[in-house]
Amino acid sequence: MAWFKKVRKPIEPQAKKESRVPEGLWVKCPSCGEIIYNKDLAATMSVCPKCAHHFRLGAADRLRTLFDGDWAEFDAGLQSTDPLLFVDTKPYRTRLSASIGSTGLKDAVICAIGRIEGIETSVAAMEYSFIGGSMGVVVGEKITRAIERAIERRLPVVIVSSSGGARMMEGALSLMQMAKISGALARLDRARLPYVSVLTDPTTGGVTASFAMLGDVNIAEPKALIGFAGPRVIEQTIRQTLPEGFQRSEFLLERGMLDMVVDRRELKATIARVLRFALTPAPRPAPEPPVPAEVPAS
Ligand SMILES: [Zn+2]
Repeated sequence: MAWFKKVRKPIEPQAKKESRVPEGLWVKCPSCGEIIYNKDLAATMSVCPKCAHHFRLGAADRLRTLFDGDWAEFDAGLQSTDPLLFVDTKPYRTRLSASIGSTGLKDAVICAIGRIEGIETSVAAMEYSFIGGSMGVVVGEKITRAIERAIERRLPVVIVSSSGGARMMEGALSLMQMAKISGALARLDRARLPYVSVLTDPTTGGVTASFAMLGDVNIAEPKALIGFAGPRVIEQTIRQTLPEGFQRSEFLLERGMLDMVVDRRELKATIARVLRFALTPAPRPAPEPPVPAEVPAS
């Protein structure tokens, strides 16, 4: 028999004090550690006021930063039917309904027509928080329709990408969207209408491999991750250590993969400038001066 018995008593939790600070009021910048008041962040378009770190921006907020005022949304009701009845760790249907519940969107893109500094534009903005902004049948169809709508109404197109690539749960059907959107962009090009691609953090996989890199002008946000395969896969394949800053906007700009890296706070003005330039018809060449009639030699 033990002489002493130690009774293990759990440490009593402190009486719960009601926190006077509601959750989610403050955000810590992952880059410089600055604690930022959420409302301040909204005023700076989710850019850290201290170090200019660009936080991810949702599709609706993105449209708000680009358009002058209200916009007309299209195809908001399109929803995936889960054609493969796909199940991984959980059914695709469950993932879909969870994302629909948390984002209030039916899929990972919002397509709208509005004005950017007065220029009527067809814009598609991707939503990363919807299954990683992945491109399935619905995203492909909505973006294609946004481009076709632009052709019909003679408008320029802006697509803001933020995506992990094709949606694996829709198999080959999601891969087909790459060709479908690229085809629509080719028709837009033939209609002589400009397309500005905006690449934000992250833009990878099938989205990079199709429409994100097909812009007449490709603009990226600072330090955005842009690539096709992930760095680990590449390192294992080529058996080389990758250079510093690999797959970031600035690195890609230096190597000619992008046209511009633009701070989000100047993005709208930059897009408007590009569109104005692209939409201004080239001046007609001045008519040739009449050839003086040859004076017959006397
Ligand atoms: Zn910061």
